[in-house]
Amino acid sequence: MILAANLKTNHTRHSVKEYLQAVTVFIQEEAIGAEAVIFPPATALRKGTSAVSIGAQNAYPVKSGSFTGEIGTEQLEEFELNTILIGHSERRHLLGESEAFIRQKFDFFAQQGYRIFFCIGEPIEVKEQGFEAVMAYIQTQLERIDLGYDNLVLAYEPVWAIGTGKTASSEDIAQVHSAIKKLCDKPLLYGGSAKPKNCAEILSIEGVDGLLIGTASWESKGFCDMLQITKTIDKD
Ligand code: PEP
Repeated sequence: MILAANLKTNHTRHSVKEYLQAVTVFIQEEAIGAEAVIFPPATALRKGTSAVSIGAQNAYPVKSGSFTGEIGTEQLEEFELNTILIGHSERRHLLGESEAFIRQKFDFFAQQGYRIFFCIGEPIEVKEQGFEAVMAYIQTQLERIDLGYDNLVLAYEPVWAIGTGKTASSEDIAQVHSAIKKLCDKPLLYGGSAKPKNCAEILSIEGVDGLLIGTASWESKGFCDMLQITKTIDKD
């Protein structure tokens, strides 16, 4: 089971250091078996610990070069990082990353052997058209993505559930996860307003291999509470 914390544009170098330390100690003291991954903002990237790995929320598909405002693998390697989030809905919809660019990023980071957390999920207007439309949308997002790539983790994140407090129903999550699993048998996380209150129910759903958590992970306590709950899930 994987629990990943997407800190987005929150936290500083100092607070990420404290966050990482708190989660590391918690995992060790509580003997948490689930895997924990933290995605801090770029300015607060640092090496992971024996209990927690660190990933980049974003990077440009280059080693280095003239890409103002971006970072490449040269900057990630300084922290011995080889995990990256690609296709997050905020990058797709707020920052305008196209399907073509997302595929370019996937191919580049896959070639470098990075562990890729690849996000997919439909906006509300697609959700309103029903399950077939949702799956057609997701299939388009997965087109020309190498689903056989060894170091791939998928995250199903319905756009309308991200940061809104609205979680997909267990039936919807089960239905979509089961359909995605038929396309790709890689670890599949759910993301979208997961929190301590609802995470046991979500994690118990067949086909859910973990969570990608935004808001509820921004304080280490919230993330630790969810890690603690993974111990009650009888799966694997
Ligand atoms: C996310 O941004 O990946 C996410 C799941 O956010 P939230 O948990 O706040 O919905």
